[in-house]
Amino acid sequence: MSRTLIRNAKILTVDGERGTAPFDGDLLVENGIIAAIGQNLVAAPDASVIEARDRLVMPGLVNSHTHSSETFFRGRYEGMPLEIWLLYAYPLLMNDPIGKRLLYLRSLLLAMESLRNGVTTICDDFFDPPAHDLDRLKTVFDAYDDVGIRANVSSAAMNIHTLDALPFAREVMPTELQAMLDFGPPTTAKTYLDYCRSAFASLHGRSGRVNFMIAPSAPQRCTPDLMLGCMDLAMERGVPFHTHVLETKTQAVTGHELHGKSLIAYMHGLGLLKRNTTIAHSVWVSDDDMRLMGEAGVSIAHNAVSNQKLGAGIAPIRRLLDAGVNIGLGTDGVCSNDTARIFDVMRVAGLVHSVSGPDYRKWVSADEILKMATIGGARTAMLEHVTGSLEVGKAADLIILDTRSYPFMPFNDAARQLVYAENGSSIETVMVAGRIVMQHGRLTTVNEGAIFAELSELLPAWLAEHTELERRNAVFEPVMAEIHRRCALANIGLDRYQGDLPRFEGANG
Ligand SMILES: [Zn+2]
Repeated sequence: MSRTLIRNAKILTVDGERGTAPFDGDLLVENGIIAAIGQNLVAAPDASVIEARDRLVMPGLVNSHTHSSETFFRGRYEGMPLEIWLLYAYPLLMNDPIGKRLLYLRSLLLAMESLRNGVTTICDDFFDPPAHDLDRLKTVFDAYDDVGIRANVSSAAMNIHTLDALPFAREVMPTELQAMLDFGPPTTAKTYLDYCRSAFASLHGRSGRVNFMIAPSAPQRCTPDLMLGCMDLAMERGVPFHTHVLETKTQAVTGHELHGKSLIAYMHGLGLLKRNTTIAHSVWVSDDDMRLMGEAGVSIAHNAVSNQKLGAGIAPIRRLLDAGVNIGLGTDGVCSNDTARIFDVMRVAGLVHSVSGPDYRKWVSADEILKMATIGGARTAMLEHVTGSLEVGKAADLIILDTRSYPFMPFNDAARQLVYAENGSSIETVMVAGRIVMQHGRLTTVNEGAIFAELSELLPAWLAEHTELERRNAVFEPVMAEIHRRCALANIGLDRYQGDLPRFEGANG
């Protein structure tokens, strides 16, 4: 039996009883599980003791939505809406998939940055075209297993041609460019579902921490039979059906152009709004959409930073909360956010909704944001019985912050200082399933210096190849810009933009 007693701490449980109010006490971990929380707990002689005076102990943060495939693209782009940015971050014309060592290091780097910044669970919507390869998925699982993070990992699926998943694309794109995008028959539902079953059989539940989740990319990118098969399997296995819906206005227009209704109403009609459904973004949802989502008990991953980076708009978070939708926070990939830090997303999400309207009684509070970053996030991952709060019987996924630090000097209010002042720099210790993965500001499970040295060695050649790939894909940019322009000018009776910039200078739309 391994035992750790954390004593004399300020403890923030974020559970149903104590919420976000800290109290002074001790926390006992036995075999990776929280065994007791209270005052004056007595350590068994064999227990290791963490003296936590002047320390705040809180649940590890959950990153509800990210893509490890973007980890090497930090700081590479700006000033592009999603549909243009995708051309470079997820090129239509592809090179061979990244080599296995870099694949491993890329996943590892994301997990390392996450852990260092207090994120103990990541939901990685792993995108690895063109094929679904169990051995490559295993490489990602290996990285998360080795570094000690908790993770849900998908293998993102789509089987509708890009040109049929975007409004006006066939009309706007010259035929010679369309001809360049003939990649042969897409994955069938059966092939993908067989692959998922193999992933469940061979990888799911690795070390009790690394799980497989099912991720049809988006309702406009997947056929109904693929999505329905995914939902059946997600429900059977108790894992999320993790997808992207209504991130951009272009996607809002897509629903109306393809189905004559919003993509949420379309999903509802197919029976795809369920408790297992986790929707990344949910920016361009209508009141009717939100009602359907709340009634079904779906979750969303709110990617407040990414949505601003790509100019997507501001998700109606207060109305989603009022409708009963569960909310977690996501960074989205490091290419549309530039970091893997949930603390940054907390701060932005805590601030941005205050400019959505002058009724200050509706602004989103630090308490609400802190719950989204912890237990709400765990629920988006369908891991709320395992992590996301400090409760007896749950896994010991926790972080210990030194409150003798700038963000906490002086200590006024835990939730507000965590949301508005902290940036991860006060984190001293990070524990996942009772195992210390970061201590005294260093990761304990990997040699960070060696990993950085190897990345510095390997990446220049790979990034040079990517630069060449960007050049080849730039040929599609005018088409994507025109689709974006047409959609931006479309009147769909909904607005999620703020501020006073013109839609398009001189546009005659
Ligand atoms: Zn995403």
